[in-house]
Amino acid sequence: MHISVLTLFPDLITEAVHTSILGRAAEAGLISVDAVNIRDFAFNKHHKVDDYPYGGGAGMVMQAEPVYLAYEAVTKDLQRKPRVIYTTPQGKVFDQKMAAEFAAEEELVILCGHYEGVDERVLTEIVTDHVSIGDYVLTGGELPALIMIDAVSRLIPGVLHNDLSAETESFENNLLEYPQYSRPEVWHDMRVPDVLLSGHHENVEKWRFEQSVERTLSRRPDLFERFLSQK
Ligand code: SAM
Repeated sequence: MHISVLTLFPDLITEAVHTSILGRAAEAGLISVDAVNIRDFAFNKHHKVDDYPYGGGAGMVMQAEPVYLAYEAVTKDLQRKPRVIYTTPQGKVFDQKMAAEFAAEEELVILCGHYEGVDERVLTEIVTDHVSIGDYVLTGGELPALIMIDAVSRLIPGVLHNDLSAETESFENNLLEYPQYSRPEVWHDMRVPDVLLSGHHENVEKWRFEQSVERTLSRRPDLFERFLSQK
């Protein structure tokens, strides 16, 4: 999968995607992420990409043309128009289902806003998906872009050492994952549940399912409703 991130702060993206699991996935050629600096497409000598909002009001707005030129540069050689995600608090809230949908794409473009946002006309022209990471306002779209890249790339076969771990995780099947334990068997007087030491695979599975149900019911009753209604 290839992801182009259109941003005013490419270093933020580049630094993060070269670290840890994402970094290894990039080295292995499973994903590649290009951070494209929108400022490189500014049409004035000061590389200015923002201007005052028509109608007045606080802050600055990212202008349409540099964003459009950056978009054109990353899509001009593609066979078909890719999904273009605009990170915005006004979008549909990102979830595991959306991550799986994006992970099925060969090519994605993510546009990161800044200041008061981006001129609506270029959004109308290029964006296919308006996506938020939650009901709060951040200063820019780079952290939301990284959150999406992280969630999407770990669903690409081969990125995790064990692809099964993505299948049993929270939100798969609308349940939260069961509690996890590792060595030692006793820590601060708390023992690992006996069933996990029993070596009895069926009992372990049964216990884990019950824990998932209990945990989802108490922590995320909204998700549990969805689990019930999918049955
Ligand atoms: N004026 C905009 C509004 O009220 O909807 C908010 C602009 S925000 C200060 C600047 C940029 O940060 C946005 O264009 C967007 O790209 C990004 N951003 C902020 N909060 C976000 C969120 N919850 N999810 C995704 N992107 C967000």
